[in-house]
Amino acid sequence: MVPKYNLDKIKFATDPQTFTKAVSLYEAGKVTQFKEDINYYSAIVLGTKPYRVSVKVRHYDYGHCECYLGQTGVLCKHLVAVAIYAVMGGQELSHDDKTGIAEPKCSRKLGELTKEDLDRVKKSISSAMKYIKAYNGPSRTWFAYQDSLSEGCGRLAKIVSELPVNEQTTKLLIEILLRLDKKLCEGGVDDSDGTVGGFMEATVSILEEYAELNPDCIKAFRKIKGRETCFSWEEPLAKLIA
Ligand SMILES: [Zn+2]
Repeated sequence: MVPKYNLDKIKFATDPQTFTKAVSLYEAGKVTQFKEDINYYSAIVLGTKPYRVSVKVRHYDYGHCECYLGQTGVLCKHLVAVAIYAVMGGQELSHDDKTGIAEPKCSRKLGELTKEDLDRVKKSISSAMKYIKAYNGPSRTWFAYQDSLSEGCGRLAKIVSELPVNEQTTKLLIEILLRLDKKLCEGGVDDSDGTVGGFMEATVSILEEYAELNPDCIKAFRKIKGRETCFSWEEPLAKLIA
């Protein structure tokens, strides 16, 4: 059975610490006796003790683990390690597979995107944006909601970090910031733990780097001129407009 998720899904939807620990288990060969069933993958994960773990084929975060956290219904590293095994089939993880969950960074590469690449990037931005949605559920779904915001920002961080530096990509970043701003101000996104705000601040720093690397990028900053934003994130950029 092919899992209904891929490594990106696991990476961006799991909190970074749990994901990193799960990667260590996977890489150390602690996922043993892996088996496939119609609906579940199962394995024995060698943790503090050997734990019997099962993970759904449809959802990487639904399953069962004998460890203490697993018993309380928390997504534990053993479960995530088995999900990684299901996706990777025992193959080695590349550096890229393991990273991209932190803050966005400037690629510091000058250059333009081709028309096709630009379209592809715009599509992936739109699909990442869907994870950053309004909160209207009961409080018990709060953590799932927070995970969704983190997943959206994680996906955006990966996209942003890979962009070359030029005026065209500057426009893309400004566009992302304005869309997120709208979501925070009017879209009912509850960013109490600052996930989205943190991503936006990091993106503003990237744009400052863009301006330094290629002053043409500053032209694209004009779009924010005179705007009122939700936490005045635009100020450092507005200052750079001549
Ligand atoms: Zn566990």
